[in-house]
Amino acid sequence: MPSVPLKLAERRRSRKIQVGSVAVGGDAPVSVQSMTTTVTADVGATLQQIAELTASGCQIVRVACPSQDDADALPVIARKSQIPVIADIHFQPKYVFAAIDAGCAAVRVNPGNIRQFDDKVREIAKAASDAGTPIRIGVNAGSLDKRLLEKYGRATPEALVESALWECSLFEEHGFRDIKISVKHNDPVVMVNAYRLLAEKCDYPLHLGVTEAGPAFQGTVKSAVAFGALLSEGIGDTIRVSLSAPPAEEVKVGIQILESLGLRERRLEIVSCPSCGRAQVDVYKLADEVTAGLEGMTVPLRVAVMGCVVNGPGEAREADLGVASGNGKGQIFVKGEVIKTVPESKIVETLIEEALKIAERMGVD
Ligand code: SF4
Repeated sequence: MPSVPLKLAERRRSRKIQVGSVAVGGDAPVSVQSMTTTVTADVGATLQQIAELTASGCQIVRVACPSQDDADALPVIARKSQIPVIADIHFQPKYVFAAIDAGCAAVRVNPGNIRQFDDKVREIAKAASDAGTPIRIGVNAGSLDKRLLEKYGRATPEALVESALWECSLFEEHGFRDIKISVKHNDPVVMVNAYRLLAEKCDYPLHLGVTEAGPAFQGTVKSAVAFGALLSEGIGDTIRVSLSAPPAEEVKVGIQILESLGLRERRLEIVSCPSCGRAQVDVYKLADEVTAGLEGMTVPLRVAVMGCVVNGPGEAREADLGVASGNGKGQIFVKGEVIKTVPESKIVETLIEEALKIAERMGVD
């Protein structure tokens, strides 16, 4: 009997917007974003990092624009980037106009940080509307409007949402609704509650982020927990994992989160056991070597790496490809059938060979 994929909650119905070539919201798949760490004015370095991010699966990239030199670099970056570029503007409304003129796919503004923002909304709405450029209202706990900080005492979910919706209302007064919103906080519990509240109060697409999530390990866990909670409720249209680590790592984590939730087809999945006193092989080393050997394969492939014959053969049979180790040998399984038994020293190369054969049969690698 064909298996029916299990589903999480229905996706929240959000308004669809277009960020360059990537649709965001509505029925569009949840997309993965990241942000460059280069000085944007260094066009070569920025484009190089965007190319690396693109190769790692990033779909939309944000670049900081804190100075006139950065604003001057935007036209070339927007034109040469393979993925849509969002200009990230704090403090200076004039850079919003520069980014729109430069052909950026969207502009992110932080209402708490843009001085005289309210006075400029009409002009920004007109320029963005004329160019078909969406605006992301990006509220951050660390730069919340002073008025709201006084009202709520701290960056509560209600304060973040009120800030975002207030800024949206300023654009809406001018008929501009080409908007997506983020309400980021470094505490996943506050962040999850803020997005839940926001999801109830508007139909704009939502960009999820746990801001300043920390170094790679902590940030990965925080983001996975928070995004997992929200996405499993159908909330979220794009995600950005923020790590104190190279941005390509953020993309890897973001893709893994979507794959783990079944929101994106899995590519390579290594099903490896945690090892225990029954293990007859160094499972950690074997799993690392198999992962490294198969990295970059784009076929959906589930590869089991099991340390012994207790659960090993059963798990290996469930996978596309697998090994159950024991007695210095590895039983190699392909689609549930033992195809050969090889010495331990040949397990990794045999798995890689068989994976390549499967990929070839599928017409990709
Ligand atoms: Fe232990 Fe074998 Fe299970 Fe691995 S597969 S955890 S070695 S019992």
